[in-house]
This record gives sequence, structure tokens and C-alpha cells, in this order.
Amino acid sequence: MDHIRKEPSAEAAEARESKNFIERAIDEDLKDGVFETVQTRFPPEPNGYLHLGHAKAICVDFGVAEKYNGVCNLRFDDTNPGREDVEYVDSIKEDIAWLGFRWHNVFYASDYFPRLYELAEELIRRGKAYVCDLSGEEVRALRGTLKEPGRESPFRNRSVEENLDLFRRMRAGEFPDGAKTLRAKIDMASPNLNMRDPVIYRIQRATHHRTGDEWCIYPMYDFAHPLSDSVEGVTFSLCTMEFEAHRPLYEWFLEALDMPVRSRQIEFARLNVNYSVMSKRKLKQLVDDGVVDGWDDPRMPTLSGMRRRGYPAKAIRDFCESVGVAKANSVVDMAQLEFFVRDHLNYTAARRMAVLDPLRVVLTNYPDDLTETFEVVNNPENEAEGTRPVSFGKVVYIERGDFMEDPPKKFHRLSPGKEIRLQNAYYIKCEEVVKDENGGIVEVRCTYDPESRGGWAKDGRKVKGTCHWVAEHAAVDGEIRLYDRLFADEDPEEGAFTDHLNPDSLRIVKGAKLEAALGDVPAGERFQFLRSGYFVADGKNEAGMPVFSRIVTMKDSFKKGK
Ligand code: ATP
Ligand code: MG
Repeated sequence: MDHIRKEPSAEAAEARESKNFIERAIDEDLKDGVFETVQTRFPPEPNGYLHLGHAKAICVDFGVAEKYNGVCNLRFDDTNPGREDVEYVDSIKEDIAWLGFRWHNVFYASDYFPRLYELAEELIRRGKAYVCDLSGEEVRALRGTLKEPGRESPFRNRSVEENLDLFRRMRAGEFPDGAKTLRAKIDMASPNLNMRDPVIYRIQRATHHRTGDEWCIYPMYDFAHPLSDSVEGVTFSLCTMEFEAHRPLYEWFLEALDMPVRSRQIEFARLNVNYSVMSKRKLKQLVDDGVVDGWDDPRMPTLSGMRRRGYPAKAIRDFCESVGVAKANSVVDMAQLEFFVRDHLNYTAARRMAVLDPLRVVLTNYPDDLTETFEVVNNPENEAEGTRPVSFGKVVYIERGDFMEDPPKKFHRLSPGKEIRLQNAYYIKCEEVVKDENGGIVEVRCTYDPESRGGWAKDGRKVKGTCHWVAEHAAVDGEIRLYDRLFADEDPEEGAFTDHLNPDSLRIVKGAKLEAALGDVPAGERFQFLRSGYFVADGKNEAGMPVFSRIVTMKDSFKKGK
């Protein structure tokens, strides 16, 4: 399975051309006059940073609105104080904007707390909700199972007056946390467990990141979500499959309260990608345990991590598009994302030379005091990128791996008596290997052919190998961070996900030699280092050396199941 380029199939491309099932459902509703416009929302809970799975939801939510000339709002689903924080709110906004989407409005479910409270009172007045004194455990015990109906709470038949009084006192803080809940009065015998009198308000003394200590009761997701959608005027509430069994409840609240806008929930499959986990909770654990260097660690499948890693936003959007929208859950190959990253960078990243593991090469017949400059093309895929000067001299570095003293037959790079091309410079031929007292190779001595300036011999003789190089007199020392996948196993969700971490997910190389043009580049700028892969500038290290992180290798060389 190695070395397979994962390109999206022609079938997948064709399927994209036609409409997906969400768009067909929207077409129908517009045709039937159920809705006149399209309004969607992206509803993250601000309890962590966004990951690749969220990117898919963002592409679907914003993409659908865009396609139908509608609007998409950003709504923070902040009904769980304690786990939520403004740090996450800020990061979520930044990540969505970076991906390239613009929300119409920003809303917070917490802005609707007063409205939701009124709606809960209205539900009580309609005889469709009651205050229940059972503990969480008791509620669970009475809920029944898939095979057995639940049993009614002894508090189910309280009068409207009593319920209103108790609910108001819940809000006023008269009862301790967990002492009472407000429950919807639906059907304890429903085959759908979500319909068996779900809790819609709980007492919880927690400071909310926006409303502070104003509230000691908070609405549950199943109550807050449909009503927030409706209050905002959302027509299509797009979400992932795990909410399918909640849809009857979603619709029940809209109907029970005669909401003017009957938002329609449509579910689609979650995005799962191999070699990674897609859960804020698990990603947070990696951050909290110090396994990674923060949410934006370049190995994290978070949007901030992928941004720092150097993944172009466009590559992520193209990837999400290529995955498509379906009902069936599946696992997508990480190589498919990397394909889009390479594809994009091939056109946009300037080429540079960097020697990661340098071997000194002395050109014995090159004049001692001469240096010269070659004008080298920045990107053969894009002429507009122009050229840059690259300095050449008597001593150059090549990759240690490009030299073998005693090579096997198929080795076409440098070895004693063999000739190779230094890219864009000259042919060189190895004449002598210099070793230290332990037999380690210190440098190799070569002759160069002055008649091959630019990298092509006058007499037309060919060489098999071409190597990249950096001239010693112009080299800049750099630190290179070689990132690999965070997980060594295709399915890290099997068992404890932390057991599957890849111990070699980061390798740091300190003594790299970089061409002069890499000495001072702004963080975030991306390059192709010839033959080594794509790299992004990531500031300076403690020694003041420029740091470059590997975005992706030149080819898919990841070995599965190692
Ligand atoms: P997590 O389990 O990582 O916390 P979540 O679903 O709880 O994910 P939310 O912040 O509630 O995260 O999600 C916001 C939106 O993103 C929801 O509509 C949710 O369905 C969608 N979403 C989350 N994960 C994925 C995924 N892997 N693929 C597609 N959509 C996703
Ligand atoms: Mg969630």
C-alpha cells in the first residue's frame, strides 16, 4: 500500500457536479414554498479549537448558503458553562475567517437565555413541561430501555401553577444544584428514548463566560438548539448524523411552542480521517497532558495546527469538497488531504535549496578566491515568480545521503570516480574521500567541469544523478522540524487513543545549511526545498537560527502500519 497517490476518483468528481441530497431537499422545499430563502448557521460549542471535522461542517453550512444566495450565521452554542471560554470563541472566529468564510452575523445561544426562559414558561403554561424532583440517577432508572417503555415520574402531573412557581424558584436560586429539573412532558413509552420526557433545564451554579452569574439554571442542548434556530430564522439546520434520533424532539419543540419559523434539520455524515482523532475532548487531553505543544501544534488536526503546519486553507476546502456530502459515515485517507496540500503548493511555493544533513564537498580545481552567482528559476510551474541569485563557490554542501563510498549498483548519486550534476551549477566528479581517525567521512574532494556551467556539459555527456547543494560561504544555519503523523495507527480510536501515538512524529535537525535567500523570511511563508518536501518558515529558535517546519513530503512516502 506504500507510495499510492490518493487522488480523488473521476466518479467522486462526477458526483460533485450533480446536487447532493441536502441540496435536493432544499430545492424541494423552495419549490413547494415551505421556505423562500436559505439561511443556515454553523453552531460550534466554544469548548475547544476547531478541527478538520468542523472544516467540513463549515464548508457545508457556508457553502450551501452561498450556493443559494442565502446567509450563514455563526452561532456559539454556549449552554454549558464551565467547559466554555472566550479563548475558544476567539480561536473559532479566527479559524473560520482563515478558512475563507464570512459569517453574516455572530450570535450566542446565551443571548437567548431570557427568550428561552420565557419559552420554557410558555411550555409549562401549555401543560407540556413539568418540574421534576428526581435525581439524574433516578431519571435514568425510570427511562426504560430500547425494549422496555419508561415509567412516569411521580412529579409528572403537577399543576401548571405549581410548575410555574417551582420553575421561577429554580431560577431565583432557591434550590441546590441538581435538586430539580424542568422536563418536557412527551411520552415515556416512545420507542425513541430522546422523547421520554427529556430534561430541558438544569440547576447549575457556574459562571458563564458571557452572562457571568446571572443565571443558575441553564437550558439543555436539545431545547436550546431548535429554538435558537427558529428565533434566528434558520431555514435549514444542517448537522451530523448523531442528531438524527434527536430530530423528532427538535420538531416537537417547534410545534409545541407554535414557533413561526419551523427550521428543518438535515443530517450528514461526520468526517473521519485515518491516523487522527476528531474530538475536541481528546484533542484537549493531548494539550493538557503536554503530548503536543498547544492546540496549534503543527501535528494537531486542528485548523490552527494545520495553519501553523503550513497547510493552505484552499487545500483544506478542496479536500472537504472532494469528500462530498453523504449520509453514511466513512473514514477518509489522510493522504487525500496531503494530495491537495501538495497540489496547491506545487503551484504556489517558491523552490529553494536546503541541505538537511550536510556533507562538505571541496572542489579542488575551482579557483580559491572565486565565487559566482547563478540566476535560478523560483518556480518552474509559475514563470511569474521570476528568478533569484544563488551563490556558488569552492566549497559546497550536499546531503550526506547523496554520497556513498561503496554504493550498490542502482545508486546514481555521488561516489568515488562517479560524476553527478549540482543542480543549475556544474558537473562534479568525486576524486577522494577524507576521513577522521574513526573512519567517519569528513569531506569529499571533487573536480568540477568548468565547461558544464549551468548544469549541462558542452560535449553533451550525461550524468544520472542531480543533487541540490548550498555554497559554504553563503550558507545560513537553520533548524528543521520534520513532522510526521501524530498517530502511528490508522485507527487510533481503537482502545485508548493515547496508546497509538507515533513516537517519531517530530524530529528536529539543528545543523541544516540553507541558501542565503532563506536567511530572513517572514513566518508562514512556504517553500519547496528541492527533493526534501514543502516547508514553512516558523520564526527563529533560541539560538536565533531560522526555523522551517516540514508541511508535507514530496511524495506520499508514509508507511502504513509501521
Ligand atoms: P467534538 O466532539 O469534537 O466536540 P462536536 O460535534 O461536539 O465535536 P460542536 O462544536 O458541537 O462539536 O460542532 C459544531 C458543528 O460541527 C456541529 O454541527 C457538528 O455536527 C459539526 N461537526 C463536529 N465534528 C464534525 C465532524 N467530524 N465532521 C463533520 N462535522 C462535524
Ligand atoms: Mg458538542
